[in-house]
Amino acid sequence: MLRNRVTQANTVVQAGLVHQINTSAWKVPGSQGKQYLITHRSGEKARMRCDLDTGHGLQDCKGNVNGHVCRHILTVLIFRAKMSGENNSRGMLGKHHAKVSLQKMSEDKKGVKNPFYGKQHTEKTKREIGKKGIGNDRSAKLYPAFYNESTNEYIPGGQNLIKMCRKHGLNSNKLHAIKLKMRKQTREGWRLATPEEKREVIYRWYEEG
Ligand SMILES: [Zn+2]
Repeated sequence: MLRNRVTQANTVVQAGLVHQINTSAWKVPGSQGKQYLITHRSGEKARMRCDLDTGHGLQDCKGNVNGHVCRHILTVLIFRAKMSGENNSRGMLGKHHAKVSLQKMSEDKKGVKNPFYGKQHTEKTKREIGKKGIGNDRSAKLYPAFYNESTNEYIPGGQNLIKMCRKHGLNSNKLHAIKLKMRKQTREGWRLATPEEKREVIYRWYEEG
């Protein structure tokens, strides 16, 4: 599903997991430490190329058969579009500009790049954002990523706890309580996700579908 792939690619870009090697080469992660090398070759018909870097040489990425474009190339295309958008603020396709981007822009000014759903907000930036009146809406408060050990479910961090809880059929008070108690579990098995869990979950999900 292309739409799914675009969401996946966007998440990987947002999480700052695309590594630009030079102006025509990028690395994109896979699960279990895999890496994909994407190169841009201006002289060739198929301009973007993707190889799996096994650590002992390169293998053709299997996603590019029969004219298909693999998720790794798609990710790099989105990454490049985002970068050129950032270099030219008029390039912002500004529908959701308001809350998310205001926050993002203020982070960029502080030199904090690639926030992943706000997980990198320190208590200080949170307070500052609050003071500026961005995110004053209580329902739009930032929340961290949650992980459920018993069901292996994962909820990425985000901005609207109440909305997210409604979507997942969860009790928002309970999740708020975990957030306050840090790493303690609810009876249902929910707790705060560790940074490693966050990354591995993104990688695995990224390779699905
Ligand atoms: Zn690929």
